[in-house]
Amino acid sequence: YDRLAAIQAPCPPSAVEKAPDRYRPDTEALGNALDDGHVVPWFQAKFCAKTRKILGAEVLARWIHPEHGMVGPDRFIGLAERDGMIDRLTDSMFRQALAQCGEWRKAGLSPKVALNLSPHMLLNLDLPDALVDMARDYGVPPEQITIEITETALAGDFTSQLDILTRLRMRRFGLSIDDFGTGYSSLKQLQQGPFTELKVDQSFIARAMIEEGARAIVESSIALGHRLGLKVVAEGIETEEQMRLVADLGCEEVQGFLLARPCAAQSFVWPTS
Ligand code: C2E
Ligand code: CA
Ligand code: CA
Ligand code: CA
Repeated sequence: YDRLAAIQAPCPPSAVEKAPDRYRPDTEALGNALDDGHVVPWFQAKFCAKTRKILGAEVLARWIHPEHGMVGPDRFIGLAERDGMIDRLTDSMFRQALAQCGEWRKAGLSPKVALNLSPHMLLNLDLPDALVDMARDYGVPPEQITIEITETALAGDFTSQLDILTRLRMRRFGLSIDDFGTGYSSLKQLQQGPFTELKVDQSFIARAMIEEGARAIVESSIALGHRLGLKVVAEGIETEEQMRLVADLGCEEVQGFLLARPCAAQSFVWPTS
């Protein structure tokens, strides 16, 4: 897997993956970081479970802090959601990621990307058209873009969420239900929602080899996803054993440190054919 080596080489499990200190950002610092372009999209490859070819990439936010090093999203997404900055952050991430995709497309590649959408944004009826306009601005067709929504997001008012999800799907965006198994979505919501993909949460993958219960959840989530006509992705694959398990269960795509870590756009290598 030369291609994998190429991807992994610039992004070892280095210091840059973990922030070197316990820096606790506040709203003002985050606002400044957004102004200064310090919050940037990184990309983690998604692979075909059978062939291990790269099929796409998930966009993950990284705050590259001049003094504190890399600050992971776990330290600022919640902050942004609480302090009313999530719209700005999402807009910035989507624009930067789509601009990058536009560049890749100009270079003759056809990158598929998955973008994380905060639950808070599933309340805005204008979102679907705004995203269509944004995709057009950067020359990226909506069918190349999947929007990941965490399952916990679906705990709110499902009727209006369903409206927005349906509009997104009608505009040809892919819709992925993220962290499946950790939220409280009902089977009815899962069945009614116009989803195209289900991502089995990494916590179950992590325990599948040691806990019968976790393995049962992995198996039944994959089977359920398939019965509902969804593509199933397993995330957090760290070992060949986990890889074999989900591939044998018919999972279509995999994502995890075994195959590739998230890395900056300039380090990301797409297959050319
Ligand atoms: P997520 O969407 O579930 O993303 C997957 C997380 O698992 C990422 O953490 C990724 O780096 C990590 N990961 C990938 N493969 C492995 C593996 O093999 N083992 C382990 N242990 N971890 C793995 P990250 O980048 O720290 O992101 C954390 C969460 O922050 C994401 O979880 C997502 O919910 C949120 N997030 C990240 N970027 C954005 C964004 O732009 N917007 C919003 N709204 N949320 C974001
Ligand atoms: Ca995600
Ligand atoms: Ca996830
Ligand atoms: Ca998660």
